[in-house]
Amino acid sequence: MFAAAVLAEEAPELSVLVLEKASKTLAKVRVSGGGRCNLTHACSDIREFVKNYPRGGRELIGPFNRFGPAETVEWFESHGVPLVTLDDGCLFPRSDTSEDVINALCKNTAQIRTNAEVSKVWPFDGGFNVKLAGGEQLSCKKLLVATGGGAFVEGLGHTIEPCVPSLFTFNTSDKELTALSGIVVENAQVSAGKLKADGALLITHTGVSGPAALRLSSFGARTLAETNYHFEMKINWLPSVSEEEIFQTLEKQRIDSPKKQVGTWSPVGLSSRHWKLLVERAGIDEKCEWGGCSSKALRHLAAQVSGFTLPIIGKNKHREEFVTCGGIRLKEVDFKTMESRLIPGLYFAGEVLDIDALTGGFNLQAAWTTGYLAAQSLASE
Ligand SMILES: Cc1cc2nc3c(=O)[nH]c(=O)nc-3n(C[C@H](O)[C@H](O)[C@H](O)COP(=O)(O)OP(=O)(O)OC[C@H]3O[C@@H](n4cnc5c(N)ncnc54)[C@H](O)[C@@H]3O)c2cc1C
Repeated sequence: MFAAAVLAEEAPELSVLVLEKASKTLAKVRVSGGGRCNLTHACSDIREFVKNYPRGGRELIGPFNRFGPAETVEWFESHGVPLVTLDDGCLFPRSDTSEDVINALCKNTAQIRTNAEVSKVWPFDGGFNVKLAGGEQLSCKKLLVATGGGAFVEGLGHTIEPCVPSLFTFNTSDKELTALSGIVVENAQVSAGKLKADGALLITHTGVSGPAALRLSSFGARTLAETNYHFEMKINWLPSVSEEEIFQTLEKQRIDSPKKQVGTWSPVGLSSRHWKLLVERAGIDEKCEWGGCSSKALRHLAAQVSGFTLPIIGKNKHREEFVTCGGIRLKEVDFKTMESRLIPGLYFAGEVLDIDALTGGFNLQAAWTTGYLAAQSLASE
């Protein structure tokens, strides 16, 4: 839809038809960001920006330099959608509704056919035949596929990287941890084997969530799918401090407050309920006095702070934004034009490509950028 809106302005002489299988276009944009549409993210450095894309970041550097977040802001603001940047860098329409984004995209777009599901596409000399689910057949000179998923493109010879979920939260069988539901650790680190992710971590009634968990789910989407979401997660509740430094802090506590009970207060700034669990896991009675703890016990306690083991037994959907990792293999697409390297005249944009990102407006930004480049390329021809 974005590509069609750009084409309507940049090449009004072209005949453009949008085929949409649903009864309305832009359904995902409508519900995005909880109905408010987090349409991009503030950015001062494209190389930093692409770090939010576990898949597609490298390929998107060039495209973002041509049409990135700044150009997206300019486009929407000049099309009647003033934007606001929140403290976390997320950009939303000032009106707080995705309807304004939808209106801007639909305003000039020439022809849209809804309830028109494409079931098959095949090239002929000079263009493409497009078959609709009802049996009707159309033809066109150039074809842009922006279907989110890529079912019918496989028949054209393109490789589809397997689709697996990304951006999810984790379930655990550790009931003592989930009993702490509601606790947030502002800067934790979660890991699964070599994969590591930092950020705030929220303990939920089923497991762990929050930015650190979502980041791990996104960067580890393929690896974690192979484990069927059953693996041992390690949590470092205090990654800014080494395990040895934590041990030294505990030793100091033993010297300074020998008569105080270990379970009553955390000398490393964790909440008291959380601390009690770590003390128990280290094999120390919470009523034990600091002076009565051996160095070995304190080492065990430091290890619980730096390397808590959490058995993961599944995943949950993240409530606000979920995307799928997988899609058209990126090597098969020219990222200067978004044209297929296998079939001239065939273009791709958006989530149909093997591109996905973290939450925060990055997924829509990839869709705007690739749609814009495809439109530019079509217009220039
Ligand atoms: C609940 C939710 C909230 C989200 N919130 C955000 C957010 O705030 N910020 C952000 O950056 N990202 C968000 N995302 C992700 C973002 O919405 C997607 O990355 C983006 O919509 C992808 O755009 P797209 O045009 O490639 O695909 P889509 O938006 O999926 O559009 C593809 C269109 O093609 C149509 N179609 C599919 N197959 C056919 C066919 N065979 N024939 C004809 N038409 C077809 C579909 O009906 C659909 O309308 C969210 C996603 C979800 C699910």
